[in-house]
Order: sequence, then structure tokens, then C-alpha cells
Amino acid sequence: MKLEIPQKANQIIQTLEQNGYEAYAVGGCVRNAVLGLPAHDWDICTNAKPEQLKQVFGDYTTHDFGLKHGTLVVSVDGEPFEVTTYRIDGDYADNRHPESVTFTDDLTADLSRRDFTVNAIAYSDRRGFVDPFGGAQDIKSNLLRCVGDPDRRFNEDALRILRGLRFASVYGFTVEPQTARSIHQNAALLQNIAQERIREELTGMLCGKNVLKTADEFRDVIAVAIPELTETFDFPQRNKHHQYDVWRHILHSVAAIDSEPLLRMTMLLHDLGKPRACTTDEKGANHFKGHQQISADLAEVILKRLRFPNVFVQSCLQLILYHDVRFDGSEKQVKHVLQALGEEQMRLLFKVQRADLAAQSDYRREQKLAAVDAAERQTEKVLQQRQCFSLKQLAVNGADLIALGIPEGRAVGAALQALLTAVMNNELPNEKTALLAKVKQDIL
Ligand code: ATP
Ligand code: MG
Repeated sequence: MKLEIPQKANQIIQTLEQNGYEAYAVGGCVRNAVLGLPAHDWDICTNAKPEQLKQVFGDYTTHDFGLKHGTLVVSVDGEPFEVTTYRIDGDYADNRHPESVTFTDDLTADLSRRDFTVNAIAYSDRRGFVDPFGGAQDIKSNLLRCVGDPDRRFNEDALRILRGLRFASVYGFTVEPQTARSIHQNAALLQNIAQERIREELTGMLCGKNVLKTADEFRDVIAVAIPELTETFDFPQRNKHHQYDVWRHILHSVAAIDSEPLLRMTMLLHDLGKPRACTTDEKGANHFKGHQQISADLAEVILKRLRFPNVFVQSCLQLILYHDVRFDGSEKQVKHVLQALGEEQMRLLFKVQRADLAAQSDYRREQKLAAVDAAERQTEKVLQQRQCFSLKQLAVNGADLIALGIPEGRAVGAALQALLTAVMNNELPNEKTALLAKVKQDIL
């Protein structure tokens, strides 16, 4: 089998070969090429030592900030490639970083430090595949398997646990049983990993096509990263709207929404507050009044702990808070929600609601979906007709009211909001004279 290596990456490999060194494409790019998927970056490994690398690529634009670990970034016509000397990692001190690296001439030694067999394949046009751990066969069998002893590998670097879940979710790999057992056993080691790294891998996992299966199989691992989720595991919903317990409902809703970090994270957290909000009525049915706020409060703690950017956090919390708004068919209500959310978030809310419904029981599903469809159509109409739903659009502003004699301060804000509400409810036209007349009549 021959792989299509992009021309620029090949130019680096050939340049090294012409200078008497070995060079291969390696890692994620080879994995993806074998899978028939595009690769985002083509990494190259070589037996050339860092100083030799600098010499060979003396005429290229290079960056050598990773050179002590053997990596030189070489730009070919503006496109950067990581070129890394074959290396062996020293002892791992903190479940994350090797204390030292040593360079080697042995490609197999370099491949053996890599995390999973599917990531431990090297390829060059001249020499074909170098695949000492059977990665190509594992790709064919859809298996994610550690290189070497899983317990040792996860103890060296616990981030591999979450990388593994990400690869399983994104590429649809089944985690090979021994590797899976070791992931469960070593999950607690994730406590030693920086929150930012956890965030990145977790988000990647959530955005994978196989998230439902992976996240369910490894929910104990996810619970190390987000302990708050544990409360939802096997928590029964016991009402006609639901066919799954809270955790499985959450997972089905995650899988049902676009593969975007914000949307997937919103679904993961949207019902987190249900166990704490749960009450059971005399007929034995569960109710979750107020769970939106509890979910949002828990989500805030989680998202900040994972160091998500503030815009992301705010957007996510708002979607969680509004996820259960029942649209009642009135344009008035749509305008009020639009005022709170704004256009962009409103569109996301419809996606959230549809994903939520897809993960409920089919009880009244058609009606519930029809209500979302109607609210969406009304939203489009309100936007298209430029109907007023925000203070910005109101035909009067604070200065107009002050000029009328309303004292500066809170009273102005309250009067503006009252006018806006009246306009949104179609009780007043959004026209300056009418609005000012109303203020004169009511307040002054
Ligand atoms: P992606 O498609 O997400 O870039 P990748 O496999 O290319 O996936 P990178 O983080 O770019 O992942 O790393 C490149 C290669 O380096 C991996 O394929 C793997 O061989 C090796 N590698 C990366 N991180 C680790 C790690 N924590 N432990 C062992 N090997 C690793
Ligand atoms: Mg990569």
C-alpha cells in the first residue's frame, strides 16, 4: 500500500534522505492516511540529530524552540512541519512529563515511546511502512491498543487516558480489552493533569462521532475529570417525557447535536442539576423543577475550573438556563426570549432544544418539535421584519426621556424597559411620538 504524502512534507523527507539520513512521516498523519482521512499536520521523524537538522535545513525558515526535545519546525513555502529526532523518553516524574529525553538511531525505539499502536506507524515512499506494533492491523480491526504495557504507559503519562478516549470517539475505535481495563484502573491519575489539557481532550472526545459509546463505556473516567456528573449516573427520570436515565439522556442529547465544542458541552451539562432538583409526586412520577438554574450553577464551576474562555462559559450557561423554555406559539414570547438571548444564541437554543427532544421519549415528540419549528419561523419573521425586541432598537433612548424630565438614573432604565415591553407586546408602535406620549401620560 502506498500513501499520498503531500509534496511539501515529501520535500523534507527527501532532503533528509539526500543528506544520508532516514526520514519518515509518523504519528497521526499516517494513522489518518491509512484510515483514508485528511491529516492536519504531517510530522516527520528522522535519525538526524538536532544540530544536524539545523545544518540540513540551514536554507529554510526554521524555529528551534523545541530543539532540546529534538524538534525543529521547518517551513516549506510558509507551511510549518515538525521534524523530530528519533528519541527515547526518560523516566516520568509527574504522570505527565519525561524528566529527560535521549536521542537514538533506532526508529523502533522511537515508535515504542508512542501512545497507541495506531499512532506508532512510520511511512516513507522509499521504505514503505515501519509498523513494529501492528498498528495498521489494529486500524483495520478498528482497535485502539497501547504500545506496550498499558498500566505502565498510563502511569508514565496520564493524559494518554483521555487521548485514548478522544481517539476512540473521533475515529470510532473500540478500545482493546486490556487497554480498556487499564484505563478504568488508572483513571484517578487524571487528577495530576492540568485542567487545560483535560479540557482539550474532553472537548475533542465530546465532538467525536462515537461519543455515545465511548463516554458511556468510560463514564467513570469522565467522572474523574467532572465529578459532578456522577450524580446523574443511573438517576431515573420516571416520567412520560423520558425513556433514559439522566446520564443516558445527556449522552443521547450530546450525540444528537452538531459536533461543535460549545453545543456538545452545553448538552453534557444541561441536565446536571436534575438529581438535586428531583421531587417525586404521589403517583411516583419525578419532577425536576428548577433544574436549569442548578445545572447552570454547577456548569459555571466546572467550566471555570476547566478554564474555558469567558465568552464560552457565558454562552454555555445561558443556553443551559434557557434550554427548557416552552415556546407557547406567541410571537410575544419569542421576542422576549430574543431580547434575553440575542439572535445568535437564539439559533443555538433551537439546536439545543431539538437535541434535547431527540433524547427524550417519543411522548408528544411531534408536538414538541412543531413548537420549536414554529418559534424558529417566528424568530426569522421578527428578524426579517426588523421588529423591535431590544432597547437598542427602541425608537427612544435614555436622553429622550431625560429631556422630557425623567430624573437621570434608575427611573430612566425602568421607563425604557416598560416601553420596550409594551412595544414587544404590540401594545404600542415603535415610534418616537407615540412612545413619548405614553411616558408623559403614565409617568409625568
Ligand atoms: P491529532 O490528529 O490530534 O493531531 P496525533 O496522533 O497527531 O493526533 P499529536 O498530539 O499531534 O497527536 O502527536 C503526534 C504523535 O506523537 C502521536 O501520533 C503519537 O505518536 C505521539 N504522541 C503524542 N502525544 C503523546 C503522548 N502523550 N504519549 C505518547 N505519544 C504521544
Ligand atoms: Mg498531530
